[in-house]
Amino acid sequence: MASKKKLHAGPGASPPPVADDLEYRVTREKATETPFSGKLLYNKAAGTYACVACGNPLFSSQTKYDSGSGWPSFWLPLAEGKVKTSADSGHNMLRIEVSCADCGAHLGHVFDDGPRPSGKRFCINSAALNFAPREES
Ligand code: FE
Repeated sequence: MASKKKLHAGPGASPPPVADDLEYRVTREKATETPFSGKLLYNKAAGTYACVACGNPLFSSQTKYDSGSGWPSFWLPLAEGKVKTSADSGHNMLRIEVSCADCGAHLGHVFDDGPRPSGKRFCINSAALNFAPREES
């Protein structure tokens, strides 16, 4: 049976969310889910993708596209300041890490081979995201 671990442990944190092992390894240990394995890779529904750890809304279905990389890909975050970027020299590569600006959860990486207009590819692990479908009005 998979063990449940805390994603949040800071002082003043509300009841800490728990996650399965994959969510923990991705968001806290910067693991990468196996390509073409993620639950949200082929999701084309309209809605919002939020941080799995804290619920911060991060990406809209409107900027999701099929990059062919094997991970959910977006060409823009939902709004400025939603995600943080930082240099990541792990695995003998120099990449730009993307993390949640609110809680610091690791999300994925951003590359400069995305579509116009941004030219960016936010390559994000499904395990770092929760999808909320948009309500039909
Ligand atoms: Fe977060």
